[in-house]
Amino acid sequence: MKHFDIALIGLGAATMSLAVRLVAQGYPGQVVIIEPREYPSDDRTWCGWRLAEHPFTAQATRTWSTWAVSQAGESVVRGSDRTPYEMLRASAVQSQALDAIATRPDWALLAGRSLQSASSDNQPWTLQLDNGSSIIADRVFDSRPPALTLERPWVWQSFVGRELVGPGLTDDSPVRLMDFLDDEAPLLTFVYELPIAPGRRLIELTRFAPQRPSLSALGAQLDGILADRGLANHAIDREESSHLPMAPIAPYNREGWMRVGTAGGSMRPATGYAFHGIQRWADQCADDLMAGRPPCAPSRRRTMDWLDGVFLESLWRHTPAGSAGKPFVQLFDRTPAEAMVRFLMSRPHISDIAHILRSLPPTPMLRAALAHSRQAMD
Ligand SMILES: Cc1cc2nc3c(=O)[nH]c(=O)nc-3n(C[C@H](O)[C@H](O)[C@H](O)COP(=O)(O)OP(=O)(O)OC[C@H]3O[C@@H](n4cnc5c(N)ncnc54)[C@H](O)[C@@H]3O)c2cc1C
Repeated sequence: MKHFDIALIGLGAATMSLAVRLVAQGYPGQVVIIEPREYPSDDRTWCGWRLAEHPFTAQATRTWSTWAVSQAGESVVRGSDRTPYEMLRASAVQSQALDAIATRPDWALLAGRSLQSASSDNQPWTLQLDNGSSIIADRVFDSRPPALTLERPWVWQSFVGRELVGPGLTDDSPVRLMDFLDDEAPLLTFVYELPIAPGRRLIELTRFAPQRPSLSALGAQLDGILADRGLANHAIDREESSHLPMAPIAPYNREGWMRVGTAGGSMRPATGYAFHGIQRWADQCADDLMAGRPPCAPSRRRTMDWLDGVFLESLWRHTPAGSAGKPFVQLFDRTPAEAMVRFLMSRPHISDIAHILRSLPPTPMLRAALAHSRQAMD
């Protein structure tokens, strides 16, 4: 049985981010990567604010220095030249990662293979694959999606997006982060819009909901919105959809087996952003491996988890239905752009948190804080 120093389970955002760093830094060990899908695929775009450079910076399809949110005709536009909002296509990131991996003939990429089971008598791990073969690895980084049941205040972020190509789609407007709909469905629904290039735009319908809604129903609602805007006949170049868990997933790092990416808790509960948090984890983890230290697991600040719980609890309690976007608009309006961005990207200064708290309506937030604290103690 072939023996590897590291096994990466899945070739997704987290494992690719670690792999490119290990290649760049000349990691001396042997790595095997097990990925069921054939690559490259373009099933998602990774967006977020680039607070720091990362190895995939050059892959950004587009950056924007302004963004907007709106509710019931009230629109707030904010921006920063220093901290752009960036979009990376999964296929571009994958191509860079595959090129890097290909420079290591001592590594193995098992594309089209999936992990079936694993066993360990202490260490190393024996990994059984779907074709009946087995390999051995001293250390495993596992990015397989977690199976979850969410409880209040945590919710699903479900979305369907279509990348449209056609006339009349300009690219000189801000990113529209959240244009809230007057929609009765709990907890809230909004349109997210990336003006990628002249004649090309990604438009997504997103819902934060206690239960995962049907993606085809969400897609039909999106098609109605596109038709209302006269975009029904535009070509759909690409589609993306998913249910993301907006919940604090606990880290798992035992006996040489670490869960990483979404499975390891890299996703920010209140936003669903994960890509840039993954970059920070991968920086530290690669440094640890290069220095021969035990690698760090993804981590989140407890205060941020608590704040996220309070914020989501406030959405559950919001009345009337259909106006839950109001606190978001208020938040973007009253908080300086840089502070807001650091907060959304999980890197707030203490003064940023103070800004955020001052910008939110105090009474509902206080009630939500009490309720969330009670839930946490139960
Ligand atoms: C459509 C979409 C859009 C998103 N947009 C953004 C965004 O704009 N910004 C942001 O920050 N986040 C975004 N996210 C959230 C998050 O960043 C991504 O989900 C990100 O890909 C998570 O990285 P990961 O490494 O945890 O998981 P993934 O990138 O999903 O990688 C997991 C890998 O494990 C593989 N796998 C599954 N089962 C097995 C098995 N049995 N054996 C081996 N491998 C297996 C999968 O094929 C997959 O390649 C988005 C998510 C989706 C789905």
